[in-house]
Amino acid sequence: MKSKNKFKAPQIENETIEELSLKLFEANEQLKKEQKERAEMLSNISHDLRAPLTAIRSAVDFLRSGQGLTMDDYVFSLNIIDRRTKNLEDLINDMYYLFCVEDTSKKLNLQKVEAFPFLEEYFFDIEADSRYETKKLFFDVPDNLNYRIDIDIQKMIRVLDNLMTNAAKYSDAGASITLKGELSGPDCLNISVIDTGIGISGEAIPHIFNRTYTVSSSRTPDSSTGSGLGLSIVKAIIERMNGEVTCESTEGVGSTFTISLPVV
Ligand code: ADP
Repeated sequence: MKSKNKFKAPQIENETIEELSLKLFEANEQLKKEQKERAEMLSNISHDLRAPLTAIRSAVDFLRSGQGLTMDDYVFSLNIIDRRTKNLEDLINDMYYLFCVEDTSKKLNLQKVEAFPFLEEYFFDIEADSRYETKKLFFDVPDNLNYRIDIDIQKMIRVLDNLMTNAAKYSDAGASITLKGELSGPDCLNISVIDTGIGISGEAIPHIFNRTYTVSSSRTPDSSTGSGLGLSIVKAIIERMNGEVTCESTEGVGSTFTISLPVV
């Protein structure tokens, strides 16, 4: 007689169940963290959008009031409108850029390029840039650094621009800014932007790449304007190129931002 087939329940080891629940727990925590960050970011963005809009609205209302306005009043109000509109443009452009970089369905235009000529050409271009005219610029990349890195050139230029403009923004006239390149271990290239500027406090460093964080405005130079998203953009781009970015800094001494990328 044919024996009856018996249903065999799949065996799940206890250990596997524990591992699975741990993974589930971790994924859930990560999701909660991301939701919290997103909520904080939305609240920060609405605040950042509202502040310039309020200033523009007040200037427009003032101009509309009409009576007894002098030419100086017009110039003063137009300057406010101009400056605050620029703030809004910067913020909206950076927000859009960050969302695009973080959208993994959009592919980067990766190309294998020689590190030395790429950095040399970049440095050559910025030497003529008026943003750095009061700074001392140095290029510290050995010309035998003939290793290749896999980068999206336009996005890598954006990364270097963000780090270099920060170095200039957060330092006084006469400060030094160095673009440095060196091999770190057998298969990693470090590119650093080193400044002798105002530096960053030890408490702030762990948070500066976070888009929901802003260092106290009391420390931010008056002349500087920024969306506060520059370093988040740097981090997002570098991570999509399989690298990482770190910061070391001492208040009153200066900061070093280092990008590590695999050599290919
Ligand atoms: P933003 O410059 O628009 O505020 P970023 O994301 O580029 O935004 O930088 C975040 C913060 O990190 C800055 O507000 C500033 O306080 C600090 N920071 C960044 N780069 C430097 C630097 N080179 N030196 C000192 N502080 C810096």
